[in-house]
Amino acid sequence: MSASTVVIGAGVIGLTTAVCLAEAGWDVRVDAELPPGTTTSAAAGASWDPFLAEPADLVERWSRETLRVLSALGADEATGVRLVEGTHESRVPRGVPAWAGWVDARPCDPQDLRPGYVEGWGYRAPVIDMPQYLDYLTGRLRKAGGRLRSHRYSSIEEALPEAAVIVNCTGTGSRALIGDASVQAVRGQLVVVENPGIETFFCDDTPDAEELTYIYPQSEVVVLGGTSDWDDWDVRPDATAALDIVRRCAAIEPSLADAPVVAHRVGLRPVRPVVRLEAENRAGTLLMHNYGHGGAGVTLSWGCAREVVDRLRALVEATP
Ligand SMILES: Cc1cc2nc3c(=O)[nH]c(=O)nc-3n(C[C@H](O)[C@H](O)[C@H](O)COP(=O)(O)OP(=O)(O)OC[C@H]3O[C@@H](n4cnc5c(N)ncnc54)[C@H](O)[C@@H]3O)c2cc1C
Repeated sequence: MSASTVVIGAGVIGLTTAVCLAEAGWDVRVDAELPPGTTTSAAAGASWDPFLAEPADLVERWSRETLRVLSALGADEATGVRLVEGTHESRVPRGVPAWAGWVDARPCDPQDLRPGYVEGWGYRAPVIDMPQYLDYLTGRLRKAGGRLRSHRYSSIEEALPEAAVIVNCTGTGSRALIGDASVQAVRGQLVVVENPGIETFFCDDTPDAEELTYIYPQSEVVVLGGTSDWDDWDVRPDATAALDIVRRCAAIEPSLADAPVVAHRVGLRPVRPVVRLEAENRAGTLLMHNYGHGGAGVTLSWGCAREVVDRLRALVEATP
């Protein structure tokens, strides 16, 4: 199967979609305003965690498929993916999380919980060094014959003449590019510190918690989170928020209190009532949408990308 295809967007969704298309034999070019290293995807924590994305049944299917792929990639250090043990813990009883069975999570022994926490789940999850992982995806795309081009589209109409098939993977950019007012930016900020020796991840999973608190160890550094600011499009790091993130994480892991700060990261989660994975015909061009993955773009990426390929293949084959 071969077709001339332009994927708009070079975040984790655009790159993964482009890799799947190129490896299935499609002729693919990725056009993006921001290169992979400066996208929201590069700012993500990141761990496999189906957070802030809908609808539940599709999120389960896409998350499970992505878990399978990321777990396999975890065998190769060069990908930036590592399989790490850790816990999600809650300050109030919260019952079994929906995803617990997908990762074979087991309840924590009460004596192993952090102070102030009453319930928790332990499991092994992919933890991803996003800048390294995006480099890996870019290399894999090039190896499969795909190209990358720096370009900002002012409207989807400008893109339509570029190829027979266009795949829209523009995240929060879809609000302006195709006028989808249901896409909201939920700003997230992280602090990256030198790793004082932490080897397990931690995530506060208290329902309706006012603040996000999580700790994702990567080998040399630890990513500390976070914030969740609705309809805030400001990508400049906020110094007060950064201090607060470190304070909350140090309350969980005291060794983090004096860990030297390496970087601050900010990204805009593309939150939508439901992920949009849908095809339409616009002026004779097959336009496939793949955006709105909220706080779980990494977690949904392979499941969504593979579904895009399957749907496009069926649509192209059905076209006389
Ligand atoms: C702090 C933080 C922590 C997170 N942690 C996790 C986590 O642990 N696990 C997880 O699964 N998810 C996590 N997320 C969510 C995840 O980062 C997002 O869901 C994901 O990055 C969205 O990817 P994307 O490719 O759709 O968008 P983006 O990464 O934003 O990429 C969009 C691309 O489209 C391009 N574009 C937009 N408009 C145009 C245009 N008009 N013309 C040309 N190009 C355009 C952009 O330049 C960019 O290249 C986190 C997010 C944040 C902010």
